Amino acid sequence: MSSGSAALENKAQQDEFNPFLSMARGFDTAADYLGLDEGLREVLRTPDRELKVALPVHMDDKSIKVFTGYRVQHNYLRGPCKGGIRFAPEVNLDEVRALSAWMTWKCSVVNIPFGGAKGGVICDPRAMSKGELEQLTRRYTAAIMDILGPDRDVPAPDMNTGEQTMAWIMDTYSMHVRRTTTSVVTGKPLSIGGSRGRREATGRGVMISANEALKIVGGRPEDTRVVVQGSGNVGGVAALLMHREGYKIVSLSDMYGSIHNADGLDVPAVMAYLEENGRLSGYPEAEALENSEQLELDCDLIVPAATENQITSANVDRIKARVVVEGANGPTTAIASEALVDRGVMVVPDILANAGGVTVSYFEWVQDRMGYFWTEEIVNSRLEQIMVESFKEVADTARKYKVSMRTGAYILAIDRVATVLRMRGLFA
Ligand code: NAD
Repeated sequence: MSSGSAALENKAQQDEFNPFLSMARGFDTAADYLGLDEGLREVLRTPDRELKVALPVHMDDKSIKVFTGYRVQHNYLRGPCKGGIRFAPEVNLDEVRALSAWMTWKCSVVNIPFGGAKGGVICDPRAMSKGELEQLTRRYTAAIMDILGPDRDVPAPDMNTGEQTMAWIMDTYSMHVRRTTTSVVTGKPLSIGGSRGRREATGRGVMISANEALKIVGGRPEDTRVVVQGSGNVGGVAALLMHREGYKIVSLSDMYGSIHNADGLDVPAVMAYLEENGRLSGYPEAEALENSEQLELDCDLIVPAATENQITSANVDRIKARVVVEGANGPTTAIASEALVDRGVMVVPDILANAGGVTVSYFEWVQDRMGYFWTEEIVNSRLEQIMVESFKEVADTARKYKVSMRTGAYILAIDRVATVLRMRGLFA
């Protein structure tokens, strides 16, 4: 192969593996179907606001280190912005910008009254003490304070941030505004305004999406063999709930390897083993597999719930499932997704399938503002109502335009935001 064609192939692969290019492609395809004019597209593509902040922190060794943080608000036409904050060495403005747009479309698909945002701080949290992380979080909150607030922008956890980070943000914000304001962030501990059912919400939304998919492709949970990639907050919870619903979970994985039992795994026992041993490998009632083999197993439904770019042009021809429910963000590349749909596989796209988390974040915000907290049954039944309704709307849109569920989801989401833009008009 000449160096020119090798470079082209390399570029094609980089493009295939860039989830944000995939999203941009999804946006453009949907905008074409909607016949959006160039001006509207430009408004919807451009982030409303981008903030970059310098964050000086006293480190434990008495040195001062200056970190860089970002908050990007992509679009606030439909309500306050909503989106996670990640702490990671590879955070950069382009990524935060793209993730903020993703949140606009996700909130719109499930029709909750939020726009999209995302935040990030460039740091290596594993190399920092708890005290350093607390200072960094508080300084970041103070630095972006002017654009935060229950009616402006409501962050949530993302990579390497969690309940504790949200508690520090809530406290810092509250100290500045001189009153306890729990509704400024979601994903908080239950004791300070968190919602029941939040931890399981994304996995529960995945299970509800699988149930709805079966209603279209046919089949009962008891006859459906499921492969779940990832055993964390999304995959582990989805596997447990789907097992309880009657699905036969034949394989689970974590970053170290996969386990497989064609007769179905005893998922509660597997999760207890994982809790005790820190990894799945060695679980006695199953055979061990390489992670690269897992998605190609004989099965009916795959839940990729680990990370992006797992079903790609390299393995798509060997995928045997007839349904893919995307628990992770961007687990199927655009090329692979199109190949699956061409073969008649139903792909339930991430912006619908994993929107259960942001939906219960919305419930948390509502409960905080009311100061009245719901039972877990109420949270779960309202989540189910929204997921079922959204699934139906996406499926109907896909049918109407004769497109995939992914394009249908983008059409629905973009149309909702564009409709608000037309109604509100341009402020001048
Ligand atoms: P997590 O860290 O709790 O779990 C990730 C799991 O994936 C772990 O079991 C890990 O060992 C495993 N894993 C990592 N790389 C793997 C690989 N190559 N093969 C197999 N397993 C691998 O994370 P999470 O919260 O479950 O999030 C998973 C995905 O879902 C991410 O893409 C995240 O952005 C997305 N997501 C999460 C939420 C949420 O509420 N947690 C909401 C929406 C989307």
